[in-house]
Amino acid sequence: MNIRALWATFKFAVFTVLLILCALLLHGLSREIDIRTAVVYTAPTVVIDAGHGGEDGGAVGINGCIEKELNLDIALILRDLLTASGVNVKMTRSEDIMLYDAATPGKKKIQDLKKRVEIGEENEDSFTVSIHMNTYPSSKYSGAQVYYSPNHPDSKALAETVQGNIKAYLQPDNTRQIKEATSAIYLLHNIKNPAILIECGFISNQSEAELLCRDDYRHKVALTIYSAVIDHLNKEV
Ligand SMILES: [Zn+2]
Repeated sequence: MNIRALWATFKFAVFTVLLILCALLLHGLSREIDIRTAVVYTAPTVVIDAGHGGEDGGAVGINGCIEKELNLDIALILRDLLTASGVNVKMTRSEDIMLYDAATPGKKKIQDLKKRVEIGEENEDSFTVSIHMNTYPSSKYSGAQVYYSPNHPDSKALAETVQGNIKAYLQPDNTRQIKEATSAIYLLHNIKNPAILIECGFISNQSEAELLCRDDYRHKVALTIYSAVIDHLNKEV
């Protein structure tokens, strides 16, 4: 091999090595961008609020059931379903307690409600799902119904999705419409982040109260809410 041919081979080898180095550098950069994107992205937090608790039992059903217990049970099932799906979940309570500090002056109930609002606003990108049971002096009314906060436009969309899935998966005959909350619902009236309150059924109605006392039915209620939350999260992405 003469000098000229040797020089040409050397140049080709250097060019090839440089090309490989460039390719590796670009690959590394793209990986870095992916990682940065993953770090910047934060998934929404779903705040689950089991209504009442502790000294505040909520409503008492026609069959003697206590609202706070049914609320907590559904909230815990919902928490487990969402957590298993990789959704960030925060609970206002996960045991039988009222949210107040005995050393702080002021009525327990107001402290409790303010604390729930506070938890619902802790994460910038969060929405609250509050679980309750309905009651009415006349026992003839039944059916789940969703209320939404007037303070954020996403609340209404979430309420519509939940009410729609209640009709689709839980109560095909339910004709109830979603309702904007008034000042009568402290949490929804005051919270700034998106929030809804689900009245899962009337415990003043004999047959609905009996259903809500059954484990399998409460699982079905939780699954219905879960499906709506997942639908809502998928719409947001
Ligand atoms: Zn309630």
